[in-house]
Amino acid sequence: MNLLERESAVFFSTYKRIPLEVECGEGVYLYGKDGRRYLDLFGGLAVNALGHCHPRIIEAVERQIRRYIHASNFYLQDVQVELAERLVGATGYRRVFLCNSGTEAIEGALKIARRWCRNRNKSVLISFENAFHGRTMGALSAMDREKYRGGFGPLLPGFLSVPFNDPEALRHAVDENTAAVVLEFIQGEGGVVPATEELVAELKVLQGKFGFLVIADEIQTGLGRTGKLFAFQHYDIHPHIAAIAKSLGGGLPLGAILGSEEVAYVLEPGAHGSTFGGNPVACAAGTVLLDELLHRDLMEHVAEVGAFFAGQLMKLKKDFPLLITDVRGKGLMLGMQLTQPGDAIVDRMREGGVLINCTAETVLRFLPPLIISQAEIAEGVGKLREVLREFQI
Ligand code: PLP
Repeated sequence: MNLLERESAVFFSTYKRIPLEVECGEGVYLYGKDGRRYLDLFGGLAVNALGHCHPRIIEAVERQIRRYIHASNFYLQDVQVELAERLVGATGYRRVFLCNSGTEAIEGALKIARRWCRNRNKSVLISFENAFHGRTMGALSAMDREKYRGGFGPLLPGFLSVPFNDPEALRHAVDENTAAVVLEFIQGEGGVVPATEELVAELKVLQGKFGFLVIADEIQTGLGRTGKLFAFQHYDIHPHIAAIAKSLGGGLPLGAILGSEEVAYVLEPGAHGSTFGGNPVACAAGTVLLDELLHRDLMEHVAEVGAFFAGQLMKLKKDFPLLITDVRGKGLMLGMQLTQPGDAIVDRMREGGVLINCTAETVLRFLPPLIISQAEIAEGVGKLREVLREFQI
């Protein structure tokens, strides 16, 4: 049996695995067991911000593993505090909760919102159509797509999903009973769709009028991905809660809920917790990631090479007008809207040595390591041009 057959024999069939057997990675390249080198423009779905096997991450992980790998959250741990202090210092948020994944960060954020409502006459949590917030029951309840929710009901009560980028629909949905609005400032799985200025302006006005919480799902967009620490910083808004994960642990599982003063005191000891949340090895790696982001001009680099990447994709749009209708996104979170399903293009790219992804069926998505150079982007775009020629209508 080959590895794919062995995989199918033992796993729940939750993943449609791509036939690439990973051997190792270095920088922006992933190496297959087939001996081939792949330019990784997928970045482990926005996790590998510093690329594969970054020497400082390896060093920090090795050092922490030799100290200790796990100690309960009952005890004080310097690596956790160091990470949380950096998060608070860099973001202006007041409180941090460390968890292990994106969906847990959303789940905790929703719990904080519910707690905040306890002495307020508010109960409805609003989310947007086409959003993706994770796979746990709370996150699924804040999503509308059958693809993810189908067959898992009954989900949680008290949620309402409204059309994205439709300020009027939001105005109709929100009232005194609204507890919170949760949103991705650039919808990722939904097709790399940025929130419009109009939507965010309306959200701010409504928040001022009705006093609900705004929760930013920055799991895919956060930590420099868009050229700023958070995608919401491209707008004039500061959400009360931000959920982050993905690259936070430098490739190890780590997520966080960041809370402003408004929600800083809603949780008391025992109200929320996690056995593994804030694992010290992940925190040690995360501290390196934050240092690289905040002190080594990495976000300026993302803005610069991201603009170059977007420009190159726009050129492709111009040259393949029947195949490409839009190029969207910010920094190194970019999407290319196709007029046809994109999976075959993703396969051809991989065969040609470049890893990309297709989301929402017809959107090619690019989430490369933030350290990628202009030359490496040009290499990937060159391959894409070749592949698109094959698919030209
Ligand atoms: N929210 C967003 C915007 C995401 O992109 C994801 C994952 O892709 C999640 C939440 C869920 O994160 P995780 O898979 O770590 O649970």
